[in-house]
Amino acid sequence: MRIIVTGAAGFLGSHFCDRLLAEGHEVVGVDNLATGSLANLAQFRGEPRFEWVESDISRALPVGGRVDAVADFASPASPVDYARLPIETLRVGSLGVFHCLELAREQRAVFLLASTSECYGDPEVHPQREDYWGHVNPIGPRSCYDESKRFAEALTMAYHRVHRLPVRIARIFNTYGPRMRLDDGRVVPQLIGQGLRGEPLTVYGDGQQTRSFCFVDDLIEGLYRLLRSNETGPINLGNPAETTVLEFARRIQTLSGGKSEIVFRPLPQDDPRRRCPEITLARQRLGWLPTVPLEEGLRRTWPYFETTIRSAAHAEPGPGQ
Ligand code: UDP
Repeated sequence: MRIIVTGAAGFLGSHFCDRLLAEGHEVVGVDNLATGSLANLAQFRGEPRFEWVESDISRALPVGGRVDAVADFASPASPVDYARLPIETLRVGSLGVFHCLELAREQRAVFLLASTSECYGDPEVHPQREDYWGHVNPIGPRSCYDESKRFAEALTMAYHRVHRLPVRIARIFNTYGPRMRLDDGRVVPQLIGQGLRGEPLTVYGDGQQTRSFCFVDDLIEGLYRLLRSNETGPINLGNPAETTVLEFARRIQTLSGGKSEIVFRPLPQDDPRRRCPEITLARQRLGWLPTVPLEEGLRRTWPYFETTIRSAAHAEPGPGQ
């Protein structure tokens, strides 16, 4: 297949490109580099089946030729990033998705939407099943992301109903692994970075809020299965092993040799108190289950951040320079 991946220079987009190329497909990677990085695509240099297009898809998706699938990963995805880029986030989740869907409609291509557990907001149902409609503050600081993804799902379903477009909607829960941006503010890179530098580990609130962390390879496996299936979704993809943020910080503290103390900082507004995916649907329909426990996933993630921090330290001008 020839597959467009938007957000290709981002964390999940670039891993999805890796997988598609490994499966023998041709990939057109599109990104505007707002939060992504070309370093995530360096492995494709000289790869004839990979084509690079720098474009902001909320303005246009300038890709010609035959297209078999469009996989849309383009969006700021960390609370710190989308608080910094709220209008861009709303544009890419609405106009950007519209451009992807139009191209998919013209080409009779499959459309895969990387949606999010943020559609459930601060959930009143636990764990979250796909038939739960969510509890989202429409005007809060997270609404630019939550509502743009909810709108993206609505738009995707409208194209499915009106144009009979084959669509696949994945609701992605917290995922971690190599290529997350060290400074994107999310708890995994933030705490690993602090631990590696021997700085205090910042826990927001009392740390009793929960998240369920999925290693990136597991997530990509689920996404690829979804793309190849006939499932419209939405379908949850995430690891149901739930942990409090404080437990997670303690784990990082141990992994980094116990040098960093844990400090408490104010909880951001509308921070979801609990989050855990119900993944029966993914298990039944896709035969998918995450297989990498948090401990192993962190071990496989650690060297990436060590290298990133070391090269950043070398890049900084020394004293007197
Ligand atoms: N968090 C934290 N310390 C940090 C960054 C985040 O305690 O330095 C908390 C945050 O308040 C949230 C959880 O960790 O409860 C996960 O935050 P993240 O930004 O990774 O993603 P979210 O799941 O909220 O989208």
